[in-house]
Amino acid sequence: MRISLGEVMTSKDKRIDFDYDIDLSEEVVGGEQIFTDPVRICGSIESKNEAFQLEAEISTDLTIACARCLKPVRCEHYTDVSLILTRKVANEEMDDIIVVESDEVELDDILVPELFLDLDTVVLCDPDCKGLCPKCGHDLNEGDCGCNRKEIDPRLAKLAELLK
Ligand SMILES: [Zn+2]
Ligand SMILES: [Zn+2]
Repeated sequence: MRISLGEVMTSKDKRIDFDYDIDLSEEVVGGEQIFTDPVRICGSIESKNEAFQLEAEISTDLTIACARCLKPVRCEHYTDVSLILTRKVANEEMDDIIVVESDEVELDDILVPELFLDLDTVVLCDPDCKGLCPKCGHDLNEGDCGCNRKEIDPRLAKLAELLK
C-alpha cells in the first residue's frame, strides 16, 4: 500500500491508519511456501516534528513443515514494527530510522522485509515428535518400522566385521 507523507501531514491528527491484506503465497522461505494465508498489515503512520512514526503489526497463520517429521504445522505469527521515517539523513547511522526520498512511501517495501527478518521457520508438530526413520523414512510417531537405527561408530563397525 502506498501512502503519501504529504497527506499524512495534512490529514486530521496528522496521522493515517491502515489495515489491509497482502498475498505472499508465492514467497519461498527455507524451500517452502509458508504463507498459505493472507498476511494482514495494520497500523498507522503519524507525522512527528520533522519525521514520521510508523507503527505496524503484521499477522498471519503460517504453514511450516515440522523440522523432524515434515508434517505441515499451522502457527500464528506476529511481527511488530516500530520505525521512524525521515526525509533527512541523520548525522549518525541509527537503527530503526529509514530515509525516504520521495513523498510516496510503499509500506510493503518497508514492512515485508521486517516480517522476513522476524520469521522463525523451525517448528515442531509436537515437542516430543519422534521424527522420521533416517533409514526408511517411516514416520516414527505412527509406530516403529523395525529398522536398526543404532548409530555405530564406523571403526567399531569394522571391528564387528572382523569378528564375524
Ligand atoms: Zn513432527
Ligand atoms: Zn525405518
